[in-house]
Amino acid sequence: ISTVRDGTDQKLAEQSLRESERRYHLMAEASPVGIFHLGPEGGYRQVNKAWREISGLTESQVLGREWDLAIHPEDRKAISALWQTAVSQLRAFKGECRFKRPEGRSVWVFVQADPILDGQGLLEGFIGSVTDISLRKRSEEEIRQLAYYDHLTHLPNRSFFMEQLERAMATARRNNSLVALLFCDLDNFKDVNDTLGHDRGDQLLQALAGRLNSCIRRGDTLCRLGGDEFVLLLPTISRDNEAAAVAGKIQEALLPAFDLDGHQVYSRASIGIAIHPEDGTDVQTLLKHADTAMYVAKGEGRNRFRFFSEEMNKRSSDRLKIESGLRQAISKGELSLAWQPQYDLVAEKLIGAEALLRWTSPELGNMPPASFIPLAEETGIIHEIGAWVLKTACNQARKWRQEGGAPLRVAVNLSASQFKEPGISDLVRQTLAESGLDPTLLELEITEGVLMGDVDSALATLHALRDDGVSLAIDDFGTGYSSLVYLKKFPINRIKIARDFVKDIATNRYDAAIAGTVINMAKSLSMRAIAEGVESREQADCLLELGCPEVQGFYFSPPLSVGEFKKKLASA
Ligand code: C2E
Ligand code: CA
Ligand code: CA
Repeated sequence: ISTVRDGTDQKLAEQSLRESERRYHLMAEASPVGIFHLGPEGGYRQVNKAWREISGLTESQVLGREWDLAIHPEDRKAISALWQTAVSQLRAFKGECRFKRPEGRSVWVFVQADPILDGQGLLEGFIGSVTDISLRKRSEEEIRQLAYYDHLTHLPNRSFFMEQLERAMATARRNNSLVALLFCDLDNFKDVNDTLGHDRGDQLLQALAGRLNSCIRRGDTLCRLGGDEFVLLLPTISRDNEAAAVAGKIQEALLPAFDLDGHQVYSRASIGIAIHPEDGTDVQTLLKHADTAMYVAKGEGRNRFRFFSEEMNKRSSDRLKIESGLRQAISKGELSLAWQPQYDLVAEKLIGAEALLRWTSPELGNMPPASFIPLAEETGIIHEIGAWVLKTACNQARKWRQEGGAPLRVAVNLSASQFKEPGISDLVRQTLAESGLDPTLLELEITEGVLMGDVDSALATLHALRDDGVSLAIDDFGTGYSSLVYLKKFPINRIKIARDFVKDIATNRYDAAIAGTVINMAKSLSMRAIAEGVESREQADCLLELGCPEVQGFYFSPPLSVGEFKKKLASA
């Protein structure tokens, strides 16, 4: 009986084992995680449904085949090494790799397997799992893109660039080679943004990135630092002039017009070059020096490239000195105005005065406006300074008026960036109101440049000013690109003939002819002409003959202090 019973028990036991194997099989098939079983020799014994779905392989394609069957060929070597250690040390195995599916697509997976040992501790095989981690990998890649790439141009960004530069410099130190850094900055990006809008500005940057990309060689890195600043890293050059050649290539690539929604825009760049190790042995210094050289290139008239030199460093530290001094100049009372009289040429009668800014710095001495106004414009300090000039000039003019004497027109210079500042007409109106000066006694001098570019908004500002009674003059006429006929569109009262044409007026008949034409055309457009920089009797006589109604210049009077000017007024 017992044997019979044993037989039945065994049968029952076998049945329940098969039953539980079947259930396990069903469980494995239902699992969302890929599950596999490998024999001791590394061949597949079993794979579940999820495994087959991830790999794209069928059971018959897999069973009996080698463990690395589904793994992407490029990842096999790395995974093999892990696998070998797992087998030789009978240890668990973990790794990330790609599966290459039969149709060619790859899938990132995380593979994990544990050894199965028999009673004697011998390897019976491995059981493991495979998880699809493509989603995670993709978001990691997106994060990398965000962290390392500029979303507008898809070029590497500053962080990426700094790492590359660091690496290139380390390699160069070992190989005793050179690294060149080219710092490029567009010359007219702000104009494009201001006149054509930000979308077109973005388009320009994208197109520019494409052109710059075409100038680089394998191994070079191009990146956008921000705004319209691009840097190019040449990690292996043997001589300086290779960097110069690339800079030349960039300038050439920028020559054809950029088409921005049908607007043909010409763009040029200024480029500064710094070389490791000569110009800097750390990332920050090298970048700063390339930037300095770029500024020098810009200052020298744009659309050119310059190599960094120590001498530039000195100049740039001078710039910093000027900038920080200028920021405090108003509060420290270091600014003042000089007044240059303007005369009616025929009657030789005083008719007005131009306010000219003076800065006396305890550290830098007497700074002529030409040495700090451009910097003040670049840094935006001009707005504060300009408001100060306007207020001081209006107050002074009002005071002269109160002290008696004939009404005297005062002229105030407005720089281009001041004129384009929104609310400039409000500022003028408010300043006039606060000072109590009759608006018709104020004249604003603007340069031809402000009339170019966004003509509509220039017109709106000019009309707003004219409506308030303020008069307008075009300064340095003839040095820009506008023509008199073009000026007809604008509500201008006075044209100042630039000193360049007055200088040789008595000896050069072409200059005399130009001045004569300006004077006549101004007349026919009902504008007044005033000649600037008149230094001699001969020049004055010549202008008189040409019919020029007004003059200003050293021959009549240099710019004067308030005290000196008062004496002039008294004797006038
Ligand atoms: P600008 O508006 O053309 O001013 C005339 C400049 O010529 C002045 O130089 C004046 O001193 C100089 N000048 C006058 N008569 C003669 C002459 O007979 N011969 C020669 N060689 N020069 C003469 P300054 O004061 O050095 O000013 C230079 C420039 O700085 C000005 O040129 C103007 O563009 C700018 N500036 C001066 N003050 C201001 C200001 O308050 N705001 C702004 N935005 N710019 C200013
Ligand atoms: Ca002027
Ligand atoms: Ca002038």
